[in-house]
Formats: sequence, structure tokens, C-alpha cells
Amino acid sequence: MNASALQEFIDRYPRLFVLTGAGCSTNSGIPDYRDSHGNWKRTQPVGYQAFMGDEPTRQRYWARSLVGWRRFGRAQPNDAHRALARLEARGRCELLLTQNVDRLHQAAGSRQVIDLHGRLDLVRCMGCGSKIPRQEFQHEMESLNADWLALDAADAPDGDADLEAEDFSSFVVPTCSSCGGILKPDVVFFGESVPRDIVATASSHLEQSDAMLIVGSSLMVYSGFRFVQSAAHRRIPIAAVNLGRTRADDLLTLKVEDRCEAALAFLLD
Ligand SMILES: [Zn+2]
Repeated sequence: MNASALQEFIDRYPRLFVLTGAGCSTNSGIPDYRDSHGNWKRTQPVGYQAFMGDEPTRQRYWARSLVGWRRFGRAQPNDAHRALARLEARGRCELLLTQNVDRLHQAAGSRQVIDLHGRLDLVRCMGCGSKIPRQEFQHEMESLNADWLALDAADAPDGDADLEAEDFSSFVVPTCSSCGGILKPDVVFFGESVPRDIVATASSHLEQSDAMLIVGSSLMVYSGFRFVQSAAHRRIPIAAVNLGRTRADDLLTLKVEDRCEAALAFLLD
């Protein structure tokens, strides 16, 4: 159970379905949600119902995000992203399905990518569906909330920050300039479903694959775990690189307990 076993696995199966999670991006300075036992490291992130139904929840979310984005938006890919981009360049990657919303796989050069949980660099209007760049929205929030810019806080996952204010009620949350609708990060929130066409497209790629490689995910979220169940159902081999337990440990052909960038370093040779 080491890197050479992983190398053999990758050499043996030329059409890999790669599924990645937060562990891929921790070395880029983006914290993950869960500890090595798959438990929450902090309070559970805001859910879809609360965000859509409650203005104070949106004020708190965006105030924290205003602070968190400054670093999140500047994160750079690391060797794990580069190794997987190299795998694709060698024609070995049928699809890279990522649960991350940071776009770092694309920044590293991967092209065959599906963002299972969306992308944090876009903001979507829940009324008319229009999308704007997160950076543009950031400037708008900054100009409306100058008092908040001096605040700083520890980074939390997905561009969030551990900012705790007494009162978020003075924070001004911009609405859609076209229709006045609620603006939401273009990511799948907890309590929200992954769009069906995304699941269907990823599933069809899984049908074309001869093995699955999981990188940096505990698979605690069902939207990712379902693809591992599908792979197991198809009886294709499954390898995982992850520090700590995964929900799929019983289904794995190979498990490598290591940091992603270390386990995949041989791909960069
Ligand atoms: Zn709108």
C-alpha cells in the first residue's frame, strides 16, 4: 500500500475516472471541512434553505465570504493538481470529477473536468439565472460595505472565514441588477441537489472508464459517494488516496494513506 502500488494501478488501467475532493486543495491553502475520521471540523456550513429563506443568513454568509474570498480567490494549484493534469495530458483520464469549487484543476491545466458542486468564482441570480464573476461581485460588496473591509478572520472552507460579529444586520447584500433577485454563489449548497444533467454526463463517462481513482476525499457527501457505488456496482477497481478514513473503505481495491501531492508525485517525474 504505497506509491509504487498506486503507480502499478494507474499503469494498469488506462481509462481512469478520477474523483477529487478537498484533500487535493489543502496544500493550496484551502482548508477542508472534515477531520481524518470524516467528522466536521467546525460548524456545518450554511444550508440552501436557510440561505434562500433568510436575509440575516445571507448577510452573515456574504460578510464572511467578503473576508474569506481575498485569500481564496488568490489560491494557486499545487503538485496534486499538476500531477492530475499530467495524467490527462498522457491521455489516461476519462474524466476528472471534482467536488471542489475552487477551479484549481483547470488552473493547473486539466480540461476534462466536471465541477460536481459548481464553482465559487461565479455568482448566479436565483431569479433570472444570469451569472456574474465573483470578483465583480466582490468589488460591489466592498464598495457597499467599506466599514467591513478592515476585518480579518481565519480562513474557513469554500472561501468562508471564521468571522464572528455581534451583528451582521448592517451588512449590505447586493441583489441582481437585472431583476432584483437573490444572488447566490454558483455552487451546490448543503441541502441542494446536483443538477441532473451533470450527474448524467459524469455517469456516462464512468461507463467508459475501466477504473476509478479517488484523490483527497472522505466521500462523506452522497453526491460524490454515489459514483463510487456505481463503480463498485460495475465491478471496476477503485483506488483511493486519502489521509484517514473514507466512506468507501470497504469498496476499495487499493488505499494509499498519504497527502495527495506526495502520493501522486511520481506522475510529475
Ligand atoms: Zn436576476
